[in-house]
Amino acid sequence: MKCFVCHTPMNEQSHPTFEILSYACATCGLRYQDHGLRGAAEQARYELHHNEPTEAYVAMFESILTTIEPYIQGSVLDFGSGEFNVLEQLLNQRFDITSYDLFFHPLPLATYDTVIAIEVVEHFIDPAKEWARLLALVRPGGHLIVQTRFVEAPFFDWWYQRDPTHRTFYTVTAFTALASQAGFEVIFSNNRSIIVMKRGR
Ligand SMILES: [Zn+2]
Repeated sequence: MKCFVCHTPMNEQSHPTFEILSYACATCGLRYQDHGLRGAAEQARYELHHNEPTEAYVAMFESILTTIEPYIQGSVLDFGSGEFNVLEQLLNQRFDITSYDLFFHPLPLATYDTVIAIEVVEHFIDPAKEWARLLALVRPGGHLIVQTRFVEAPFFDWWYQRDPTHRTFYTVTAFTALASQAGFEVIFSNNRSIIVMKRGR
């Protein structure tokens, strides 16, 4: 398998816990592994995971918002909103926000000034294709705000890689290269879980 960012062959390792192969890019640090969960089985897993929005779930969004709110502008798309559109409920008094989710809400054909993807890009099965689609939703001069956990070491001890719906894991280096290839630039990162890219005009 080749790194979808660097296009160099990734190192292959047997996963110590699951019977799958895990891939690592020596150039940008990107990781990929796939448990093969698809369709109805995957949806069932999300329904389990994104149950009724609990106080803790809403609090997680509020905490992310305190970091990302300065980058939210104009029309907003929540890409991968989950079943309950929590972000839309938190922002709809102040922003023109639309929710999209592969499993729960169909995508309107449009582009946006701000696209927000919280806990989404780690689920990508075909990251080259899915990133192209995500990046294309951002208008020139617009912002793409991504929240996902950046790769932590030692990788196989890291809780986030144990979720069978999590497949693609990123580093700041990978995001920076990805942004530049697509005509975006990284304008903010907390170096842990949030990256903001601005599209060139
Ligand atoms: Zn790479």
